[in-house]
Amino acid sequence: MNALTGEPSFRQSVDLMFTRAAALMDLPPGLEEKIRVCNSTYTVRFGVRLRGEIQTFTGYRSVHSEHTEPVKGGIRYAPSVNQDEVEALAALMTYKCALVEAPFGGSKGGLCIDPRHYDADELEKITRRFAYELIKRDLIDPAQNVPAPDMGTGEREMAIIADQYARMNTTDINARACVTGKPIHAGGILGRVEATGRGVQYALQEFFRHPDDVKKAGMSGTLDGKRVIVQGLGNVGYHAALFLSVEDGCKITHVIERDGAIENPDGIDIDAVADWIRRHGGIKDCPFGTYHAEGARLLEAECDILIPAAMEGVINMHNAAAIQASLIIEAANGPVTAGADEILRHKGTVVIPDLYANAGGVTVSYFEWVKNLSHIRFGRMQRRQEESRHQLIVDELERLSADSGIGWTLSPDFKQRYLRGAGELELVRSGLDDTMRAAYQSMREVWWSHDKVTDLRTAAFLVSIGRVAKSYQAKGI
Ligand code: NAD
Repeated sequence: MNALTGEPSFRQSVDLMFTRAAALMDLPPGLEEKIRVCNSTYTVRFGVRLRGEIQTFTGYRSVHSEHTEPVKGGIRYAPSVNQDEVEALAALMTYKCALVEAPFGGSKGGLCIDPRHYDADELEKITRRFAYELIKRDLIDPAQNVPAPDMGTGEREMAIIADQYARMNTTDINARACVTGKPIHAGGILGRVEATGRGVQYALQEFFRHPDDVKKAGMSGTLDGKRVIVQGLGNVGYHAALFLSVEDGCKITHVIERDGAIENPDGIDIDAVADWIRRHGGIKDCPFGTYHAEGARLLEAECDILIPAAMEGVINMHNAAAIQASLIIEAANGPVTAGADEILRHKGTVVIPDLYANAGGVTVSYFEWVKNLSHIRFGRMQRRQEESRHQLIVDELERLSADSGIGWTLSPDFKQRYLRGAGELELVRSGLDDTMRAAYQSMREVWWSHDKVTDLRTAAFLVSIGRVAKSYQAKGI
């Protein structure tokens, strides 16, 4: 229990949500606890010489469930990182991977550090040392534990981790598969950087394909014209907001950042705001909307869809009743506390839960891991063959048209698009879209068919726990 807020801790919150769903299942005695508890958490304290003195850092790698290996989960750099948080995030990874059928157990790592206080060289030294500590204990390994980026980390840190692993395992031919989210020149995959935000977009697109579900959220129609609030314009929030506004016609009316928020009822230009934040270090004085110093208050503003994409616990027992959005999609991990979830459920707010909503990242990480293990880029074998078969059809249609005197022609735009074979990016997006659709459908089936399931989160947990349970039972546990 958090003494300041009077709410359960993040890990307790995840456990409460788990227990709520498990109570509706008929699991063999003991299995519920086996699935719920975190298998192990390793804490490391290490020193790095920086600015003429040794600085000591604390890091964690938690393994929640090894029902399938390797285990998978990001590494977060933030001053607030602690064991409870890392264990909560590791548990969510177990359920998330099961829901999207990525063949991994759940894990998570974190380092207590504010990365903004260090330059690139210092961060490299710190990351190498942290990676060294985890690699030597097999807590980073292509067959056992595969990290990825999370809050405060990105491609650069993943490339450093991959390089550190390769230095320590010079004969491991699969070394690159020890971590995902790497830059493309270091064994990464196209579409990984955008993957979590893209997954949020695909999740919403799938939700709006089901008019009955949309009606439950008190809305109708498509995504076009929907008013959206986004909290956190980092990796996940930026990509989700960009794609929803540019490709689906949503209006981003509020962007909330750590130093305030901006509001513009006509819709905010996401690229312009992201560029402002990059150049000025925050959203304050941003000229693309009206500035509000108390950013978090705007979570309660009027809108259709609320996207918390920054951090956990932002929608809690203190503000849940005031939230006006009728649909919340949890792009961040754990943004709605268990207490707030209860309040929102009673209000009839539809919450698309984190274990589904932000699973785009781990899905494309899975594709990257497979690419690294197969040592070949997706699409390399079939792209040109596919193009030549399409060319055959186009040539034949044009010949038939000319011979029969009908005289119609294929438009240049159609021809160009039809003739283009799928490269890696197209295949990754297709695989991600398919994954997000299938996972949503598995959740909604439970949501609509189980009379005691009144929300998508419980439905998602039921699907995930069922799959993990089957995996344990197959092993005789
Ligand atoms: P990030 O570090 O790229 O971005 C976080 C953003 O939130 C930053 O712009 C930061 O300024 C802002 N922020 C921080 N504290 C805030 C506050 N109190 N109020 C408003 N804004 C605040 O992180 P990210 O990778 O985008 O991750 C965001 C969330 O998504 C986390 O919960 C993370 O666990 C989750 N997530 C990330 C990924 C991924 O692939 N990166 C995958 C799944 C889930």
